[in-house]
Amino acid sequence: MIEAMTGDFLVKTKKELKKILKKGYSLMVIPNAQGSIRHLNIPYLVFITFFVLLGINTYFLCRYPLRIAEIVKLEQHIHSLRSVISKQDKELRRLDPCIRTTQEIERHLNKANAFLVNMRKQYNEVRNRKSAEEESLRVVHLPQYKLSSTDQDYSKLAILNNNLEYLEEEISYTTSSLKDLLTKYKAYDRQLDFTPTIWPLARERRISSSFGYRRHPIYNRLIKHQGVDLPCRYGTAVRATAEGKVTIAGVRGGYGLLVEIDHGYGYRTRYGHNSRLAVRVGQWVKKGQTIAYAGSTGTSTGVHVHYEVRVNGVPVNPISYMK
Ligand SMILES: [Zn+2]
Repeated sequence: MIEAMTGDFLVKTKKELKKILKKGYSLMVIPNAQGSIRHLNIPYLVFITFFVLLGINTYFLCRYPLRIAEIVKLEQHIHSLRSVISKQDKELRRLDPCIRTTQEIERHLNKANAFLVNMRKQYNEVRNRKSAEEESLRVVHLPQYKLSSTDQDYSKLAILNNNLEYLEEEISYTTSSLKDLLTKYKAYDRQLDFTPTIWPLARERRISSSFGYRRHPIYNRLIKHQGVDLPCRYGTAVRATAEGKVTIAGVRGGYGLLVEIDHGYGYRTRYGHNSRLAVRVGQWVKKGQTIAYAGSTGTSTGVHVHYEVRVNGVPVNPISYMK
């Protein structure tokens, strides 16, 4: 029973559908002269499809101008972005050498600091100081930095600023250290002028009798030798071993013709047995200046210079003052 009803219903629906499909509009084509009128039957379905398609097309057609306007806007935006990028690029290229320069300064500073440490060490050695006050090398380290185009100007500028501030401090410190050292060196250099450091003879480097107790060649008994004897040819120029003021220039017992120079800082030097003098008492002499000519005056067995170095009036071994 139910099957028969369903079949019936199906047949009915088919008929209805066919009716609907057959329904539609007639398009009449009427010629303006002779000829027969033509009928064109357009079913609903085709009609509806046509309008739907027309609607879709119109929608897309209307959207085009809007899309085009959007594209134009985007293009303008891209253009402005490009100009910003090129500006930043220019700025970066301007900053890059600056940062590289600061890195170069860093290298120079490190070199200067190494030099400073080395010089200080040498200075302390020369002044016979213990290297207890030895200092370590001040190494300058700028922030590690790799240049990249994605970095912002601001961060680069910040790095550049940091570097410059740091370097400024370091440079002022190194400069003042160097100045300090230079002052010390100059003072020491001047002091050296007044310290006996050279041989009284320019070429001869022989010592016939050294400092200390020895059997005296004339008195034949153990007597402390207050200096060193430097044999040479008669008339050889005798030179001042340091800058100073002549305090003795004349005959003094066993010394024969003697020259004594006061160098300050407690130092005095004596040159004995000369044949002739080239200076007067009170005269100022420079280091290396000829003060007398060698001979064999006083208690002497041959031509030589008796050379003495006295520190605060006490004769010391001159060998440590002869370089
Ligand atoms: Zn002597």
